[in-house]
Amino acid sequence: MVEPTSLLLGLEGLEVRAVAVAADRARVVDVVTVDPGAAKCPECRVASRSVKGHAVTRPRDIPYGDDPIQLRWNKTRYYCRNQACGRRSFTESVPEVPPRRRTTTRLRTQIGRSIGEAARSVVEVAAGAGVSWPTAHTAFVEHAKRVLKDPAPVR
Ligand SMILES: [Zn+2]
Repeated sequence: MVEPTSLLLGLEGLEVRAVAVAADRARVVDVVTVDPGAAKCPECRVASRSVKGHAVTRPRDIPYGDDPIQLRWNKTRYYCRNQACGRRSFTESVPEVPPRRRTTTRLRTQIGRSIGEAARSVVEVAAGAGVSWPTAHTAFVEHAKRVLKDPAPVR
């Protein structure tokens, strides 16, 4: 069963360990990985139990009501022990925050919609979400590709 605070946060594969309110009213949320698939090498998909170390990342996320959420994700780094794999090590990832991403999938979806459907400027949406212009623009391009891929309804 998913613990209530984790359910409220709604980032699948991540479990909330602590929540604090910062001076600027941001919710500082410490999360850990509970998705067993997160320990699979992104290259060869073989699971690893060989821990290399730990790292804390701070992916940007959608706000909690009017206040921002500051995620602190305590991640594990693994060695890939698959001899046939060219990758030596990797850091955990979950679909909600794919490898090399510094924003949650739901934040990028929200940014893409704001620009693509509400016709807001990239500059304005990037500033509101606290991300860079390139990040907001990439989210918009990803959104446009998804929308344009869906075939138009036949009449
Ligand atoms: Zn591998």
